[in-house]
Amino acid sequence: MGIVTSVPDYKNAAITLSVIVPYFNEQDVLPELHARLTAVLDQLPDSSEIIYIDDGSTDDSLRLVNRFESLTSSIQSVALSRNFGKESAMSAGLEHSNGLAVIVIDADLQDPPELIPEMLAKWREGYDIVNMQRRERLGETWFKRQSAAAFYRLLNSMVKSEIPENVGDFRLLAREVVDHINALPERNRYMKGIFAWPGFKQATIQFQRDARFCGETKWNYFKLIGLAVDGITSFSIRPLRIATVLGSLIALSAFIYGMMIVAKTMLFGDPVTGYPSMMVVQLALGGIQLLCVGVMGEYIGRIFIETKQRPLYLIQSIEQKQPQQTFQSMEKRA
Ligand code: UDP
Ligand code: MG
Repeated sequence: MGIVTSVPDYKNAAITLSVIVPYFNEQDVLPELHARLTAVLDQLPDSSEIIYIDDGSTDDSLRLVNRFESLTSSIQSVALSRNFGKESAMSAGLEHSNGLAVIVIDADLQDPPELIPEMLAKWREGYDIVNMQRRERLGETWFKRQSAAAFYRLLNSMVKSEIPENVGDFRLLAREVVDHINALPERNRYMKGIFAWPGFKQATIQFQRDARFCGETKWNYFKLIGLAVDGITSFSIRPLRIATVLGSLIALSAFIYGMMIVAKTMLFGDPVTGYPSMMVVQLALGGIQLLCVGVMGEYIGRIFIETKQRPLYLIQSIEQKQPQQTFQSMEKRA
């Protein structure tokens, strides 16, 4: 018997498309999402599965999802044991996916499911990653748009793999890429960076990002700043380098200034003056030192978290449902 085969042995190779929906307290929008999503998937000539990841919702979301049915897609409803954050929920989804193409989509209908056929078409053309780039951000404040743009500029000036601007988590990944991402050992899952890291052949589709169907965004500014710091520190050591360069420059100027003071004292004596310059130098040095210690602290914190090797998420329950109508056009297409 041949053990080595060129065909990868996936858990369920019959599934072409996996759609991952991470959600947290979205009871008001989930029925609408499911209706629109299944309407799209039922039209596809491909077999598909929907993977709902409950990220520790405290409302009725999970009970709703467990009642969902679909004509042509199988449904997995995975419930995490608490709120681990969207990044972990997406990781859970990727690890439970079986499809040859995998799409991550928000539950709040900001990412229109109707674009799925277009994404699949790109994948069929041979692209491994299809990024969905927002053309406009409806329903977002001027301040949020500006801070997002500034953040992308900062991030891309610091990381090596280009992280596409205005591309959220809505995207298609080929099975190969998903397997590589699943194999990454790191705990700190900054997904925008992780999705960009493997490279591969990428396509970008522009789309209009709708406003949230209802409810409120789960990200406040405090969380967003945390995500930004995560993004930079988990994909770049440039802040450490900046700290080193800054330190060297300041040490050099301090040395030159010191020599000047010594020369001046030797030439003109030492009247007691210079309180302002002393204060300025002290405050500047103190501030920069604290900043650099803080930067180092961020990285040490990362190392601390990585060394603990805790799992990214814990699963409380999984429910699986087969499609109501079995998928028959497989042979026709083969
Ligand atoms: N989400 C999640 N866990 C969280 C926060 C959010 O799974 O801790 C889900 C949320 O239910 C939604 C998606 O992530 O499906 C995007 O969240 P949101 O709409 O709040 O973010 P935004 O669109 O404002 O970036
Ligand atoms: Mg949203």
